[in-house]
Amino acid sequence: MGKGRTVLRKVERVINPKFEKYQWLKPEDLLEIQKRHLCSMIRAAYRHVPYWHREMKRRGIGPDDVKCAADLRKLPITSKVGMRGKEEFIADNIKWLGPELWHTGGSTGQMLSYYTTDLSRHAIDSCRIRGWKWAGCQPRDKIATFTGGGLSSKNLRLDCVGMDEKVMDKHIEMINKSRVDAYRGIPSALMTFARHVERRGLDMKKKCVLTTSENLLPVHRKFIGDVLGEVYDGYGANDGGSSAFECEEHKGWHISADKSIFEVLDRNGNPVAPGEEGILTVTCLFNYGMPWIRYMSNDLAVLSDEKCSCGRGLPLMSKLLGRTTDLIRTRNTVINGTELANNVIGHNLPIRAFQFIQTSAQRLEVRIARESDWSEEHRVVILNILQTYDPQIEVTFTFPEDIPKTPAGKSQYVISQLK
Ligand SMILES: [Zn+2]
Repeated sequence: MGKGRTVLRKVERVINPKFEKYQWLKPEDLLEIQKRHLCSMIRAAYRHVPYWHREMKRRGIGPDDVKCAADLRKLPITSKVGMRGKEEFIADNIKWLGPELWHTGGSTGQMLSYYTTDLSRHAIDSCRIRGWKWAGCQPRDKIATFTGGGLSSKNLRLDCVGMDEKVMDKHIEMINKSRVDAYRGIPSALMTFARHVERRGLDMKKKCVLTTSENLLPVHRKFIGDVLGEVYDGYGANDGGSSAFECEEHKGWHISADKSIFEVLDRNGNPVAPGEEGILTVTCLFNYGMPWIRYMSNDLAVLSDEKCSCGRGLPLMSKLLGRTTDLIRTRNTVINGTELANNVIGHNLPIRAFQFIQTSAQRLEVRIARESDWSEEHRVVILNILQTYDPQIEVTFTFPEDIPKTPAGKSQYVISQLK
């Protein structure tokens, strides 16, 4: 038996069977479980974590004042920037909790080192394995992971950084040799690989493709699905202890509400109604070593109050709309960079990569790495797309040989130079 398989067996043994059961509970029963976990987390944070003790005292509240998701509004919002390097967020009893130092990806230039504990790692693994099962992926399946974008793997690892034709031919060889059941990776890496497989005319379809860590554009979902297998997207911010996965119905992402609480807030920190767009803010219910309470992410999302037809009681997040850092704010409008990128890709233009740089309030530089059959008419197409968002937008085009990805291997469609 290979080493990878032994590791997988171990992971399988530690799956908390409770999580398997919870997914089928009614929403009201899930809320009771969530409340119980929240009360216990808030009590521990008050008792053991200097920051939370101070902030609750300052607000004149105690642990008994925060008993459900709505009560979280009594507490301050936290962020990566606010928490970075501050020991006051670490519990004074962390050494008893099996701490391990992890690091968040630095794709936005905001690195953060943080502690997980035995219990939180266990919960993260349990929810991930539960979510992958919805895609038809069993714990013993062999998954080829295109690493990068913060992803790693104890299974078959295929480096997604620097994937030229030669490297991808090697990947194909490895995949065929290893009898792979499924793929996993960031969408842009899987897209590059899927294009290559299509060019080679090979049948490399597996039972599912697990995407994560980058916004999945509908055009990418379609193409990857046709070439590599049905795509199941997952959302995970392990630093915030949050995760959500698509089930077989693809109606959105089922939130792991038995592990975390999702709030969607406007720019002033007020909750928005279900169906409305806002900034995803999460509370982890399992990391007692470094509690993540009301941790505001960079992700724009929409929560839904509809039930999924699969019958699971876990609530749905209906949309992920990209990152707050991918917004282009002009004098007339706000353009969602993820939607814009999807729009551009949907036109099937002869381009290898592209990027929008906002250089001033009303001016964009559009960087295009062109294919050989690029012509003036394609420039006009992109200009027209931009002008549908804002007719007064000023655009300049530049044509570099290539557009580098982030150090984590992700595509960065929007860069803002505004202060
Ligand atoms: Zn479902």
